[in-house]
Amino acid sequence: MNERVAFLHILGKDWQAIFTDDDYVYDGKDGADGMAQHWLQKLQITARHPQEQGRILCHEILHVYDEELNMELTEHQVELLGTALYQLLSDNDIYAILNGLTELQGNSE
Ligand SMILES: [Zn+2]
Repeated sequence: MNERVAFLHILGKDWQAIFTDDDYVYDGKDGADGMAQHWLQKLQITARHPQEQGRILCHEILHVYDEELNMELTEHQVELLGTALYQLLSDNDIYAILNGLTELQGNSE
C-alpha cells in the first residue's frame, strides 16, 4: 500500500491528509472514498476517483469542522458544502485576489 502524506492546520491543530492507493477506506463496516479519523487527526483519501481527490479532501475537512465546532451538519450538507468549497478554490486564486486588492489600495494612496 502506497501513501502520500500532506500536512494541514485545521482550527489550530495539526492534521495529516493521507492519500492511499487503496480503492476504499473502511469506517466500521462501510467502504468510503474518504474518512476523517478525529481521534488520530488523520484524513484518509482513496485513489478510487483520482479526479475527485480535491473534492473529497474538502468534504473530509468539513467533517472536521462539523465535529470540532458541533455544527451538526447532515451528510448531505457536508457533500454540498465540500463540493462548493472545492469549486471555489479551484476556480479562484484567493491569494492572488487578496494580493490584487492590496495593490489597488496602494495605488489609491
Ligand atoms: Zn461524509
